[in-house]
Amino acid sequence: MARHEIGDEQFDAGFHGDLIRPDDPDYDDARAVWNGIIDKRPGLIAQCAGAADVISAVDFARENGVLVAVRGGGHNVAGTAVCDDGLVIDLSEMTGVRVDPETRTAWVQAGATWADLDHETQAFGLATPGGVVSDTGIAGLTLGGGIGHLRCKYGLSCDNLRSVDLVTAEGEYLTASADENEDLFWGLRGGGGNFGIVTGFEFELHPVGPDVATCLVFYPGDRLTEVLRAYQEFVANAPDEISTLVFAGELPDEELFPSEWVNERKFAIMGCYAGPADEGEPQLKPLREFADPIADFSGTMPYVEFQQLLDEDYPDGMRYYWKSLYLDRLSNMAIDRIAYWARAAPSPLSTVDVWQLGGAITDVGIEESAFAGRHAPFLLGVEANWENPETDDANVEWVRDCLDDMRQFSDGSVYLNFPGFHEEDDEMLRTTFGPAYERLVALKDEYDPENVFRLNQNIKPTA
Ligand code: FAD
Repeated sequence: MARHEIGDEQFDAGFHGDLIRPDDPDYDDARAVWNGIIDKRPGLIAQCAGAADVISAVDFARENGVLVAVRGGGHNVAGTAVCDDGLVIDLSEMTGVRVDPETRTAWVQAGATWADLDHETQAFGLATPGGVVSDTGIAGLTLGGGIGHLRCKYGLSCDNLRSVDLVTAEGEYLTASADENEDLFWGLRGGGGNFGIVTGFEFELHPVGPDVATCLVFYPGDRLTEVLRAYQEFVANAPDEISTLVFAGELPDEELFPSEWVNERKFAIMGCYAGPADEGEPQLKPLREFADPIADFSGTMPYVEFQQLLDEDYPDGMRYYWKSLYLDRLSNMAIDRIAYWARAAPSPLSTVDVWQLGGAITDVGIEESAFAGRHAPFLLGVEANWENPETDDANVEWVRDCLDDMRQFSDGSVYLNFPGFHEEDDEMLRTTFGPAYERLVALKDEYDPENVFRLNQNIKPTA
């Protein structure tokens, strides 16, 4: 399909949202995604107003053999929410949320962000586990798993799904839950956008906040190895209410740090206590006392505020390349290598991250969902964040070299929501999904045998 050629009067007339073409003044805004390195020029962007528009768009794409990209929050690092020449089925205008405080559930449209959902649920002192940056889309994040500040107490985002409404490649509208289309429900919890376009998610909610005890403490970079050793002992014995992550880099923020520290290496421990704030403060205190901090912003604050603390660090349009690896241990040697790679980052904005896993994530059986990372005690995230396009190669290479080295502490499986540019091969997906891979292929054969939904961590159908 050549550029600028997607058009069909019947489709246009039946579509309630906005249809944006390359000559439209809004085109450049509508095709931009969070990662500034991505520069795709779709033939048509269909900003859907509801499930009916999603069905029309899928039917149109299938009947005309048009390449399809699906956009939720537009925050996938690989930029799979857009494509060259094809059709972007964009759900970002579909942000409605309905909370039922009685049943502690929320039904949310698939274009919403975590900020949209937190805002509505916190009105009732409720929340479901999301991500740690609030303008990320709920759709991509939940379908790939979802690792956030409440994970050790309440599990992954996908663990909290009650049901999912979805449009299949055939344009059929289905609901998947524990009682209906159970196999599809299994695959949607970790298998990504392979099986159709989700129009709505139903989440279970938990009492959280409105205030929570939090930890955000920054230490000098030269204390990283010693603090990580103490940290890994702490988290091994911590209650499930505590979920933390460590990020190490230069983190040059003039507003946060004393001037002598702005351009020095440092690292942070960040986390919160998913329980009463007065109970949480003393529980989190040891994390703040591993060494003399450079700065300590810990304390009790509104959950919504904590959910948004990192938002400004990841502006739209900067250049990003993120990958990951599940670690099977945080041994002294692994810690030494983490410290080395944090020092080696070409960009001062980049970080090496260690996410604590376990707790409620491990309580869900490995076969209960397609999500592949339940076995690991830690996730290593390697984030290249930079501004200058001339340094693209150096930044991408740093991430790849770091992961090549760190693979010695891992079974090689990765968190599919930190996917680089999706350059990985089928072998990596097989390694990551393990025995679940064949079951995912069978689902793909059933729901999308023509691979209409292929701009993702693609499970290839056998046909
Ligand atoms: P999009 O780019 O819109 O979509 C990504 C892909 O998801 C699409 O290509 C499609 O395959 C699929 N998809 C999207 N919408 C639908 C739909 N309605 N139906 C079917 N498939 C769909 N992950 C975590 O687990 N925890 C974090 O704390 C976290 N923090 C992050 C912070 C930032 C700043 C960023 C950029 C990412 C973060 N991530 C985190 C990773 C995040 O989970 C992925 O980037 C995810 O893909 C974002 O979802 P999205 O809807 O915004 O993305």
